[in-house]
Amino acid sequence: MKASPADIDRTAAVEEIPTRKSESVYDNVTRQFDKAADMVKLDENIRKILAMTTNEIIVHFPVRMDDGRIEMFTGYRVQHNNALGPFKGGLRFHPAVEIDEVRALATWMTWKSAIVNIPFGGAKGGIQLDPSKYTLKELEHITRRFTFALGDNIGPEYDIPAPDVNTTAQIMAWILDTYLSTMSPHERQRCTHVVTGKPIESGGSLGRDKATGQGVVFTIEEWAKDRGFDLRGATYTVQGFGNVGSWTARLMKEHGSKLIAVEDVSGAVANPDGIDPDELVDYASKNKWLISGYPKAEPIDRKTLLQTEADIFVPAALENQITADTAPWLKVKVVAEGANGPTDPDGDRILREKGIDMIPDILCNAGGVIVSYFEWLQNKRSEFWELEEVDCKLHKKIVAAYGRVRDTAKKYKTDWRTAAYIVALDHLERVYKERGIFP
Ligand code: NAD
Repeated sequence: MKASPADIDRTAAVEEIPTRKSESVYDNVTRQFDKAADMVKLDENIRKILAMTTNEIIVHFPVRMDDGRIEMFTGYRVQHNNALGPFKGGLRFHPAVEIDEVRALATWMTWKSAIVNIPFGGAKGGIQLDPSKYTLKELEHITRRFTFALGDNIGPEYDIPAPDVNTTAQIMAWILDTYLSTMSPHERQRCTHVVTGKPIESGGSLGRDKATGQGVVFTIEEWAKDRGFDLRGATYTVQGFGNVGSWTARLMKEHGSKLIAVEDVSGAVANPDGIDPDELVDYASKNKWLISGYPKAEPIDRKTLLQTEADIFVPAALENQITADTAPWLKVKVVAEGANGPTDPDGDRILREKGIDMIPDILCNAGGVIVSYFEWLQNKRSEFWELEEVDCKLHKKIVAAYGRVRDTAKKYKTDWRTAAYIVALDHLERVYKERGIFP
């Protein structure tokens, strides 16, 4: 039996996104980093350290399939930097996962934690696979065997995974259980914070499921305040209707904004009168978490979605979506990057030339890692926070980070992505200068 959506949330949603493979995602990170490092005149020695990852782990591991065959899998964990605290970052299950992509995602995590001022470093990982091809039981075995293969390369005070594309709270629960099963009985109770994004009953935090979308919406609120723009009646489009895209869409509805087009791996749909995000979630939940065939909107193609005139566009799928080819199509006031790396440097330049505002990924989608940090703290302190407390603390952190990026953009007269990098680099540079380099 294949994994059903009811069993495993969104692992059925698998992409065929035509990303521009010619443009390496890690090259994008390097170009973004170099620009900010030049502007802020980053110390040359610290620049050398931050330009490289710390550890790159590649594991090949066997898993027995339901029919008795053994299949080999390749998994990755890249740890970019842990100057500020334990390595931290999601795990992705996707056919396009490879070392270069994981390096880029790990590096972005370092900047993100530094910008929002939480004591974490940056890491990312994943398995190269198409989850829709496996049964629920097989996915469980793949997850557990990957966790076992990573061994001591992860740990509650060392490197803490979380959900990302095609990984869910259920998958985090399997990682937790596998990790704890390898510990001595005396240590088990002290290690539930080895992963975040867990189901609530297994030590998860209230508000973690929606946290990234909530953070996206908090940053959009700040942007609207800055611009004197009324979100009531504003129109928005969303690419990707998984965890980040669907929560963003639902929370924007609370502002009275109108979702007019949305895309996922199965296709795109539009309705100028508005698509109810809650109804769409309800529909997708009965359709393998896919939106195609939604009866209250018209099917459109991918190009039409990107060309749809709206106030706000939220890319919430994969990298390299807004490029030299697609950026000229956008007719929006602001791009709020729910996804990691959806805009490449050429796309950035074109959006700037068109006067489109940008809330960059390492600020915009940081709500996920912020609430992961809250979950980690609750586990360490044996506490359980109410949702209001989580939301209130998230709001405070992300609004403060938004202010830092805005002020830095003004100070350096630069774009917001570069400003966000400058905030992160400045923080890390100070830490390295205070501590020095051993020996
Ligand atoms: P998810 O697996 O829950 O959802 C991914 C969505 O993207 C699905 O709706 C899928 O159908 C869609 N998609 C895939 N290929 C597509 C294509 N070609 N065109 C349009 N849509 C496509 O993943 P997620 O957790 O929502 O992550 C989405 C993005 O947000 C990723 O870049 C991820 O790194 C980033 N992010 C996630 C979190 C988190 O907490 N989950 C935190 C920060 C950043």
